[in-house]
Amino acid sequence: MTNTSEMKNIAVIGAGTMGNGIAHTFAQSGFKVQLIDLSEASLKRGMDTIARNLDRMVAKEKISEADKAETLGNITTFTSTEDGVKNVDLVVEAATENIDLKLKIFKQLDAVCSENTILATNTSSISITQIAAVTSRPEKVIGMHFMNPVPIMKLVEIIRGYSTSDDVTTTIMDLSKTLGKVPTEVNDYPGFVANRILMPMINESIETLYNGVAGVEEIDTVMKLGMAHPMGPLQLADFIGLDVCLSILNVMYDGFKNPKYAPCPLLVNMVMAGKLGAKSGEGFYDYTESRKAEKIASQFLK
Ligand code: NAD
Repeated sequence: MTNTSEMKNIAVIGAGTMGNGIAHTFAQSGFKVQLIDLSEASLKRGMDTIARNLDRMVAKEKISEADKAETLGNITTFTSTEDGVKNVDLVVEAATENIDLKLKIFKQLDAVCSENTILATNTSSISITQIAAVTSRPEKVIGMHFMNPVPIMKLVEIIRGYSTSDDVTTTIMDLSKTLGKVPTEVNDYPGFVANRILMPMINESIETLYNGVAGVEEIDTVMKLGMAHPMGPLQLADFIGLDVCLSILNVMYDGFKNPKYAPCPLLVNMVMAGKLGAKSGEGFYDYTESRKAEKIASQFLK
């Protein structure tokens, strides 16, 4: 078993919203990161986002230009998973939230990674136990659920699958602390803790809009000013991605067989129409104006 102090090389699968943030965070803490996505275009988008987020940190004098260059220098990109996971101590999978895709990726990882490599997933809701079961190392499979935006948010929800070992859990808890995060251990049930509580609130806010009780801005204002939430639930849904919210609700609906998790028909319609939130330019709010999503995010991030 690799100890936290011996961990140097990390592979991150997926350079989207979460993957680029996870790569950024490890690289800024001095790890060598191999960032993998399906195309050069996705990798470029991810690397551009990391560079812009580092620029913002330099402008706020949180890091120096040299720190920025070192962080970017710690990241290498790959379009081949097999090449990208060679010689790594840990893989953090942050590909699209889709069970079939994740099972396929973990089967491949199990086949090509060294037997000591720990396999973590950033899934928001899919069973760690089910993912682990397609590998020959279920004791080395664990949930490492970072929050969005990863470089800023302190929490990492650490999810133990049915077979995850104590050693692996301790290693990943300690590793999260070396990233400056606060790891919190939870067990493997649909939605874990974070989304089991958050998603019904987001879904209810969409249902409130769908029922005509109030408009988008009004619902968000009530929750921001009334409950001291830094961001309203509809705007948060836009930043998470409406497709991601829908997938998580479906996993909980299927997992618990309880209608309280049934996704609101308005959410289903918006996803079918391609209105996925900030990443597609439109969700409950319009983000088509240049960099509008980033401007809103930076206000929220202070
Ligand atoms: P995203 O759609 O922004 O990015 C997913 C990326 O994965 C894309 O760039 C896609 O090209 C890539 N990808 C798909 N298949 C791949 C493969 N086989 N190999 C390599 N790359 C592949 O999604 P996201 O929001 O970053 O979500 C990623 C994961 O993180 C999901 O499991 C999601 O549930 C979880 N998550 C999301 C959030 C959030 O706020 N968005 C928060 C916590 C966890």
